[in-house]
Amino acid sequence: MKKDALKKYKTKRDFTKTSEPNGTVKKTKPKKEPMFVIQRHDARNLHYDLRLEDGGVLKSWALPKGPPKTTKERHLAIETEDHPIAYGSFEGTIPKGEYGAGTVEIWDSGTFENIKYHDDKLVPFSTCMKEGTIEVHLDGKRLKGNYALIRFKGELKQWIMIKMKKKRAIKEA
Ligand code: MN
Repeated sequence: MKKDALKKYKTKRDFTKTSEPNGTVKKTKPKKEPMFVIQRHDARNLHYDLRLEDGGVLKSWALPKGPPKTTKERHLAIETEDHPIAYGSFEGTIPKGEYGAGTVEIWDSGTFENIKYHDDKLVPFSTCMKEGTIEVHLDGKRLKGNYALIRFKGELKQWIMIKMKKKRAIKEA
């Protein structure tokens, strides 16, 4: 994990007021499968937060409409700051006046598999983040299937999330 990976997360929050994880990193044994979580966040605007574990943090996106249910939907996903791994099990109320004030509930969680291949070689997840093309198989309780996140060209934080028809093959957005 990069040294300052959670700097943004920490500066946005007052941990004397919110019960959210404070971003202290505990050394844990590396697991085989990285985790994913989708939290229902009833804040000023109800949205869902998708988080995918990579490099010791949870890469995060806010989904104003939640994850797509069919392969025809293209749902906006706004990249947000990296969250600590411990956030993956956080549920609770963020007090009024604090960043993200409202309630957080786990809507789905499980593990995911990176399924982004290029010329039959698996593309490392960190490269997918950098290139703005992510393909994952989500193995959750509600969501089981292949999803892609594709960053809009020329945008830093705006992505779309789509449900993929089949494994691997996907057209560029
Ligand atoms: Mn949120």
